[in-house]
Amino acid sequence: MFQSLGDRLSGIFDGLTRRGNLSESDVNAALREVRRALIEADVSLEVVRGFIEQVRDRAVGAEVTKSVTPGQQVVKIVNDELVAVLGTEAAPLDLNATPPVAIMMVGLQGAGKTTATGKIAKRLKEKQNKKVLLASLDTRRPAAMEQLRVLGEQIDVDTLEIVQGQNPVEIAKRAQKEAKLGGYDVLFLDTAGRTHIDEELMAETAEIKAATNPHEVLLVADALTGQDAVNLARSFDERVSVTGIMLTRIDGDGRGGAALSMRAVTGKPIKLLGTGEKLEDLEDFHPSRVADRILG
Ligand code: GDP
Repeated sequence: MFQSLGDRLSGIFDGLTRRGNLSESDVNAALREVRRALIEADVSLEVVRGFIEQVRDRAVGAEVTKSVTPGQQVVKIVNDELVAVLGTEAAPLDLNATPPVAIMMVGLQGAGKTTATGKIAKRLKEKQNKKVLLASLDTRRPAAMEQLRVLGEQIDVDTLEIVQGQNPVEIAKRAQKEAKLGGYDVLFLDTAGRTHIDEELMAETAEIKAATNPHEVLLVADALTGQDAVNLARSFDERVSVTGIMLTRIDGDGRGGAALSMRAVTGKPIKLLGTGEKLEDLEDFHPSRVADRILG
């Protein structure tokens, strides 16, 4: 088990009964523990560095109120700062556009894009009564198209007819036409991933985006991505300007540091969390919950 930041800090501040303001040396000692906690939570080193400086600015000289210990005071400052970086409020998917509203799903292969598409579609249909069309643009893996079709059947949501020989842009355009003609509210464009970021993937993703001008571009990323989270988020955001991030496998062992890394480098909101393999395992992102998890 991880040691919580509170426990670590109470160790440091043990015997320190003095009240008043946090001194620079108190803060430095505490920040060493904060750094450790963030690195254990898989926040990328680059983001840890910037974050620690922000906390230092706020913590030195901060008044320790009577009701808390210095350790608790530092935990509170770190927690507030985490929430501030993660986004103080939940950021829902934005469907505020003329229908059909296109949502493009991007990310690496295996990140959970197709599953996420099914989860969100199911929620939109059941909770918001939306008429949804799903389209797989993965021309390299016929199994991916079939996977989406089966998912669609499972949740009773339409999928675009599979036509051999079209490229991803042609399929996306056909999907938009079909969505318009069929009176759909929302269209999901589930793009192909690759096992790692490469130029071909980025070029294809950018081309699809340019051709379809989706309202949302949701980057789907595995919460266990760890140190690579920064590269991943930055690469996708620079090339296709994502509108939000969905983190999957929050049910795994990780502590969600990728959320902080991705948000810090892109400034784009984490919108949704995948919390399991089942289609019901979808949650809105709550910054304070993830902050708690990162701090242990
Ligand atoms: P894609 O290649 O990005 O479309 O990824 P898939 O949607 O096919 O998902 C890859 C694997 O991850 C599948 O076995 C999914 O069941 C699994 N998966 C997706 N999301 C989650 C999640 O939130 N938690 C867990 N535990 N597994 C997930």
